[in-house]
Amino acid sequence: MLRFSALCLALTLPALAHAQDESTPAPEHERRVGHVLIISEDGLRGDAVEKMHLKWHEVLRHHGSYSYHAKTIRDASTLPAHASMLSGVDSNVHGLTWNNWRPSKGYIKTPTIFTEAQDAGMTTAFFTGKSKLRHIVPPGTVGVYDRPGYYCKKVAEEAALYLTTEKPALAFVHFSDPDERGHSDGWMSEKQLSAIHSSDRCLGILYEALERSGMLEDTLIIVSADHGGHNRVHSGATKIDREIPWIACGPGVLENHLLGDNISTMDTAATALYALGLPISVSLTGKPRTEIFSETMASEASTTLPIASDPTP
Ligand SMILES: [Zn+2]
Repeated sequence: MLRFSALCLALTLPALAHAQDESTPAPEHERRVGHVLIISEDGLRGDAVEKMHLKWHEVLRHHGSYSYHAKTIRDASTLPAHASMLSGVDSNVHGLTWNNWRPSKGYIKTPTIFTEAQDAGMTTAFFTGKSKLRHIVPPGTVGVYDRPGYYCKKVAEEAALYLTTEKPALAFVHFSDPDERGHSDGWMSEKQLSAIHSSDRCLGILYEALERSGMLEDTLIIVSADHGGHNRVHSGATKIDREIPWIACGPGVLENHLLGDNISTMDTAATALYALGLPISVSLTGKPRTEIFSETMASEASTTLPIASDPTP
């Protein structure tokens, strides 16, 4: 039997009416949530989350839909992969094919979920542990951009304060810790596992802040990563470098629901747009993972009922 997240059932459409500006064209689909929060844990392998039974990841998984075998792009480096996660297209399209902060090279070539949200009059925020992710948000395309520190504790604490005070419609939060210890000590080494536990605690800081502020019941949270890794590297040439966790939890999202393995990091962008009722460009490679929503499953089931007569052969 399918179960829906008990934490998130309080959502009502009238509560969201304020978010649609009158000048904004009607979206192709109704807005499902007041807020979307995307959390990326840099270098976190999907199988690490599956094996480690991390406290806060388990809370989200229990209340959400998930896969431990989602895939990042072939160009499995931090900047190209995050750009794909937040734009919905591959690196040859968004153009961020390098992996460090190079101001002279400019910014992402394509729209992102932040530009779409801002165009619709929604508030946005971006908190990162790594400066190079600045390439993804050209000046003026995000309400708040901040790099509180390299490690996740400062990032999570500052993001939690901002999110619960300003309540932006769309936010992205990036944790560096698993990647840092992967490169210095090896993926799945004792020190990297310890860094993953730190990252889990940082996830808990955000989750508890949303819960305390009452935002949790109106927020779609997507937890994922930019890439995995092996030994002390990641390149995308191996499966283990490309497999990432993907956990979605929020109002109307199926609870404790295992998804297929065909989720792409580019689907994160499309799913965020879908949940916020924003247009999804046909040029996006990523697809909204509508199967995570209980109502979508119900309506899809009703449209597949047999038709009484069909005159065409
Ligand atoms: Zn990375």
